[in-house]
Amino acid sequence: MDWWQGFLNLVFKYSCALCRQSADEPLCPTCQTKVQQQRRLLPKKSVEVLAWGNYGKDLRSAIAALKYRNNPQVAELFGHWLGDAWLKNKKNKVRPLVVPIPMNPSKRRDRGFDQAELLARSFSHYTHLPYCAQGLERIKQTEALYNLDPRQRQHTMQDAFALGPAFRRRRPQRPILLVDDIFTTGSTARAATKMLRKHGISVQGMVVLAVTPRKTHKASTAKPASTP
Ligand SMILES: [Zn+2]
Repeated sequence: MDWWQGFLNLVFKYSCALCRQSADEPLCPTCQTKVQQQRRLLPKKSVEVLAWGNYGKDLRSAIAALKYRNNPQVAELFGHWLGDAWLKNKKNKVRPLVVPIPMNPSKRRDRGFDQAELLARSFSHYTHLPYCAQGLERIKQTEALYNLDPRQRQHTMQDAFALGPAFRRRRPQRPILLVDDIFTTGSTARAATKMLRKHGISVQGMVVLAVTPRKTHKASTAKPASTP
């Protein structure tokens, strides 16, 4: 490493996960502006879902950099953006308990981290909401959902979740706010919500980083949009 790079490393905490420039946040200002173009906010149907952005272009690249190129630090920045969106949009006065949708344990072992968990933790720091990492547990090894149509997804996700160790010990006393990275057809959200409600636990809603556009929901043309 030359002295200049050494100097940059002293001054800047990160190198941007997208363009690799030295930066004082996980993404440099230029890349943040690009990713911000995918911003959207809309509530969705039965479980109220607040989605920060559209799963496309630079946001999609940034999520790929986070998950597949080992940049977990980006989740911290995204957690803050999600938190900001939630604080501006919250309608409910009851402070929920933030719980991530867990990924398959074997996948988590391979990746070394769970992006939904990192997002949820950063989100709860930013919003000062209570946080529980182990409210849910994934008990069924589910295949990759992107090959399946909505009905198959629904079927695959049935009974995919159980109460995690924290909720088995003690049922939460406040409603749950679920956190995930990508919302595709909602089958994951529905399965988690159904299971929690079956145990008498109320679900206030869900916050996700990105929602996939409608047209990619068709199984035949879908690209990997969600990694369970
Ligand atoms: Zn950059």
